[in-house]
Amino acid sequence: MNEFRRDPFLGNWVVVGFRKTKSIAAGTCPFCPGNEDQTPPSIREIRDRDGSWLVRCFSAANPVFQIEAAEDKRAEGFYDKMGTLGADELIVESRSHTKTISAFDRDEMARIVDMYTERIVDLKKDRRFKYVQVFKHHGELAGSFIFHPHSHVLATPILPQQLMLEMTNSRNHYLLKERCLLCDVVSQEERQGKRIVSLTDHFLVLCPFASRLAFEVWIIPRKHNPAFESWADEAMKEDFVRVFLETMKRVEKVASSYSVVVHTSPNAVSQGLAEEDPRVNDYFHWHIEILPRDVNSARFKRDDQFYTVLTTPEEAAVLLKTEKL
Ligand SMILES: [Zn+2]
Ligand SMILES: [Zn+2]
Ligand SMILES: [Zn+2]
Repeated sequence: MNEFRRDPFLGNWVVVGFRKTKSIAAGTCPFCPGNEDQTPPSIREIRDRDGSWLVRCFSAANPVFQIEAAEDKRAEGFYDKMGTLGADELIVESRSHTKTISAFDRDEMARIVDMYTERIVDLKKDRRFKYVQVFKHHGELAGSFIFHPHSHVLATPILPQQLMLEMTNSRNHYLLKERCLLCDVVSQEERQGKRIVSLTDHFLVLCPFASRLAFEVWIIPRKHNPAFESWADEAMKEDFVRVFLETMKRVEKVASSYSVVVHTSPNAVSQGLAEEDPRVNDYFHWHIEILPRDVNSARFKRDDQFYTVLTTPEEAAVLLKTEKL
């Protein structure tokens, strides 16, 4: 039986007691067409005209978080714990086992963006979930050992610590200046032009000022917008598909392993921070973080938690911008 336990020193929640019960048959890829019976049934599929799936989403075979788990907040002395209520889903992005994201065409990329959008919208309807995380890891240095292109969707009754930190700092900036922190970043970066990888009608792609990893790249809407899933119009979504694909082509030139993380607003209908603070949509600004992993970043990410970056974000932006695609 696994459960969430709150670390009273750091304030974050840890899942304790997770065990895998199902294992994958050796030598087969459970995500390849024809092997669908090796995974739980689809929650949602995007199909072609003949009815074959192009993108499919299903619950993880060994879910860390479960929809049927009780929230069950309780104490053990002064410690806090709760059930691992949530959703733990996988999205298979393509029928092809060997394609990487940069090899997708616009239609394939648009289908993935649609699936991300649908899953976030659907899971945010559950008032018990505070946050819906969408991310992908590619390559062994990013901790992914299934090559077949796939993403993860997690819905949890608590905010992930990284997002919590980001929100706290964005909130403090807003309380002090009455402006959104990321809006301020966008206008200064556009003015300075030192760390820009690309700029479109709707999006700024940049290497952040204090990049944690060499060649770290963020994709940010230029106009304030709290939620990834709330596309203003088709033109904005089309622009995103184009810029996301182009950015991944650049990133895959410099990194064979990477993580892609969607940072969208917390679930506004849920309890907790979002409900206590109706201004969350004024200070939270969605963005995509792309974190390339290489041997150096693995080596320099030490226990002291200080990231050490060899290529400056200014150098990285120039190199990425001039990559021939
Ligand atoms: Zn496969
Ligand atoms: Zn903003
Ligand atoms: Zn973020």
